[in-house]
Parts: sequence; structure tokens; C-alpha cells
Amino acid sequence: MSVSILDNIKGRFGFGCMRLPMQGEEVDIEETKRMVDAFMASGLNYFDTAHVYLSGRSELAVKECLTSRYPRESYVLADKLTSELFSKEEDILPLFEKQLKCCGVDYFDVYLMHAVDRHIYPQYENTRAFEILSDLKQQGKIRRMGLSYHDSGEFLDKILTEHPEIDVVQIQFNYVDYEDATVQSRLVYETCEKHGKPIIVMEPVKGGGLVKLPEEAQKIFDDLNARTGHTYSNAAYALRFAGSFPQIAMVLSGMGSKEQMLDNLSAMQPVQPLDEAEKEAIQQVTEVFRGLHLIPCTACHYCTDGCPMQIQIPDLFAVLNAKNVFHDGIANYYYENSLTVGGHGKASDCIECGHCEGICPQHLPVIELLKQVSEVFDKKA
Ligand code: SF4
Ligand code: SF4
Repeated sequence: MSVSILDNIKGRFGFGCMRLPMQGEEVDIEETKRMVDAFMASGLNYFDTAHVYLSGRSELAVKECLTSRYPRESYVLADKLTSELFSKEEDILPLFEKQLKCCGVDYFDVYLMHAVDRHIYPQYENTRAFEILSDLKQQGKIRRMGLSYHDSGEFLDKILTEHPEIDVVQIQFNYVDYEDATVQSRLVYETCEKHGKPIIVMEPVKGGGLVKLPEEAQKIFDDLNARTGHTYSNAAYALRFAGSFPQIAMVLSGMGSKEQMLDNLSAMQPVQPLDEAEKEAIQQVTEVFRGLHLIPCTACHYCTDGCPMQIQIPDLFAVLNAKNVFHDGIANYYYENSLTVGGHGKASDCIECGHCEGICPQHLPVIELLKQVSEVFDKKA
């Protein structure tokens, strides 16, 4: 039996609204409505958004596609307090009210302090965010309060010891990060378990990085499917990995199409835990990844809004990964004709202002990594 966050949550698989289908710069509302309908029809009801997702468009799409079309008690909605959007205590309540309005609701089921790590934690402490969220919970405007978290198990232990009022923790958890020295998925999981906190999983497919696998890793899953007669996709194995742990109450997936959603649902509604042979295959795939030393960017895009050179940082990392893993010749084409045009800077245009590094939840040395991108793709320039 897994733990539970709220009685009215159905299932253990949630709709992450950070990578909704797009038409140009705007959310594809009709496709999103179809996805919401398919999700609800499957018997699930957990939705996760944030004001910063899709530069404000995610919350508005949630209103248009979900909250204006379904009764309030039929779905569970999670939103977040993001540190970049407030600097002092007085800013928090107006921001919260604005978020309720954007989403078209008068309470959030789950409300999380966003992307907490050792650098941002003092901001939440100094602005009395913990007390303010506790008050909102007393008033019924929040039903559960929590953290979305990106740091070590040890630091989380300190936070949960100082703030036992935290109800739930959202963590990055996937098979590649499970023993990763920086992300520490296992240690963070064990810390939540020690404090008895239910866990919400984000990035179970590592921002899509566990969908298209290197040839050697793909062969491991292909051989497994051939032996067992199953047809699980790579994403399905990654989601089922997260769903196999008892302290995990909810696994979120940021789905960008109905097709992707149906694939995810086939593995997660209901959750189908991994058997021993599947666990062994995942271990082997993890070893393949370890040998590749890829840039562990999850494509969350938190860094891009404030980049003065409008460098499409995660996309540049993705092309470098693609080139290194798949020896992908088309990567050069994308770099030159798609990713660095229309006002978007090349990797070599970085002025080293440091904005991106201050905000990256993966703590990536973006400036140094962009130099590597530049080395490979800007050579001819
Ligand atoms: S350090 Fe470079 S990539 Fe990062 S925000 Fe500044 S200009 Fe953009
Ligand atoms: S570099 Fe960091 S902040 Fe930017 S998209 Fe990647 S993981 Fe997110």
C-alpha cells in the first residue's frame, strides 16, 4: 500500500501542466481539452501547475480546459509559490490571490513552495512563507502545503526537522538520478520516508531524456519486451519505476499530446509495479547512461526567461547530448537554422551574467557547459 496525500485523489498518476501541447507560442487549447477529458475519463484527477509554467499560460489553460468545465470537487489541483515572483512578505498573498484567479478556483488542494534548495530556503524563511501557507491552510484556501525540492537528502532532513508542518514533498525521482551524487533521488526519498511525508514525483522521465535512448540501452528494453511479450514504451518503464516505491503517492508526467498520455495511462492507471527482470533491465540501462556523461538538463526552462541574450539553453544542451549519444548529424542543422535564429543567441553569445546558474534547480554549470556547446557547434563561426 502506498501513502496518500488527500482522500479525494484518484489513482497515483498526475497530469503535469508544464509541457502542454503548443501551437507556436500559445497552448493548443483544443488538444489540451481532449487530454483533460481522456485523463478524467480514465478515473484520474490530479493536476499540477505553476504561475511560471509556459510563462503564465499553463494556469490560464488549466482554467479554460479544466476548472471551467468540471465541478470543483471532481479534480485535485496543485499550484506553487515561486521564489522569483516575490521578494517580501507582503508580496505573497496578492500573488496567491492572482494564482487562484488565473486558475479560476477559490482554493488549491496542494500548494508548494517551489524549487526549494539551500540557496532559496532562506528567502522562504525570511518572508514567513511557512507561516503564511499555514494560515492559508487554516482558512481552507490550501488543503495541503509542501515543498518542491532540489537538493541533498541531508538538507531536506534539516528542513523537515525545522518545519514538521510540511504535509508533502515533491521530488525529482527517476532511475538515472536514483544514485546520482547531485540529485540524490534515493537519499531524498529515504528522508521523506523517515519523516513520514508522502512524495510527489516530478521528472520521472527526466524531461524526456529517458524516452529516446542510446542504441545500447534501447536494445536492453527491446530484448526484455521480446522475452516477456510486453509492449511497454521507454517512458512507461520510467514511470513504472517511480510507481514501484511505496512512499510515492503521486507520479507526475508533463505530457505534450494525447498520444503520449494514452501511452502513459497504459502503464500507470492502474500503476503496474516492476517485476525483478524489469528492475534488472533498468539497472543495465542506468549503467549505459552513466557511461555517457550527458548534460543532466531536464528542460524545465526556468533559466530561459531571464537570459539577456535569449539563448535557448536547454535546447542547446539537448543538441549537444544528441550529437554525443546518437552522433546525430542533424544536430548541426537544428543549431544553426532553428535554435540560434529569431533573436536567440548562440552559445558563444553568453555574457556570463550568471542568471541561469542562480536559478537552475539541477545546479548545472550552465556557463561552462555553453562553452562546450560552442566548442562543438560555433567552430565555423
Ligand atoms: S550566463 Fe549566459 S546563458 Fe546564462 S542567463 Fe546570462 S547570458 Fe544567458
Ligand atoms: S539548464 Fe537548468 S534551469 Fe535551464 S532548462 Fe536545464 S535544468 Fe532547467
